[in-house]
Amino acid sequence: MSPESDAGAAAVAAVENVAARIEAERERLTDLDSAIGDADHGGNMARGWQAAAEAVAALDDPDVETVVKTAGKTLLSEVGGASGPLYGGSLVFASAELDGGLTAESAVAFAETYAEKVRDRGGASVGDKTMVDALVPAVHTFKKSVETDDLPPLEALAKAVAAAERGVAFTVPIRAAKGRASYLGWRSVGHQDPGATSTLYILEELLTTAAARLDSEAPSVDASSPAVPDAEATEE
Ligand code: ADP
Ligand code: MG
Repeated sequence: MSPESDAGAAAVAAVENVAARIEAERERLTDLDSAIGDADHGGNMARGWQAAAEAVAALDDPDVETVVKTAGKTLLSEVGGASGPLYGGSLVFASAELDGGLTAESAVAFAETYAEKVRDRGGASVGDKTMVDALVPAVHTFKKSVETDDLPPLEALAKAVAAAERGVAFTVPIRAAKGRASYLGWRSVGHQDPGATSTLYILEELLTTAAARLDSEAPSVDASSPAVPDAEATEE
């Protein structure tokens, strides 16, 4: 198998693993969205990722860019609410970074472009209690781990997952400033953000898939400290 179709097959497996995980967590995501939203995040995401998994499985020996673009387009058309355009549109847009294939460098570029697009589209910053609170520290950590700390991609991804985990915890005590939860004002305090949580699940599945593909154990994820995302990440 060529490296290109190998990365494509890995991307298909990743989408399928995300779809299975989101389905398994559907109720959890629904419960989180019932507390501070309209209880549709679990259903939205499960439907969208199931359709995305079917769409990418039907592709004939696709490259990684095509898989990501197809998954994004499917999410865009299947997922309603705020999260459809945020997840789907940003995946479609960022997939162009993978046109030369999957490397540590292109993965960093993809992650950065994806996060930028989510922030552009939604207008949310770190601290607004949205998916951005999991995503931005994860991307920042991934980039730093690859480019500055020279870690192997799998370890960099494990660090990113740990950062996302801290980001999810960080959404609990803060007040929502964007999205439906912001209508609740201070009553949103004390609840975990559903979109940050689904972002974490997706990252965890990317790690599991990458580890399986590289035939090694997923490095352990240590989210114990610090308690809030890096200050640097919030300045971006
Ligand atoms: P809706 O809020 O339209 O019902 P979902 O329930 O599917 O959509 O998704 C809700 C999640 O979307 C929130 O938990 C939050 O993480 C994310 N979200 C909402 N608005 C924004 C925004 N402006 N920027 C980034 N993320 C957002
Ligand atoms: Mg909702």
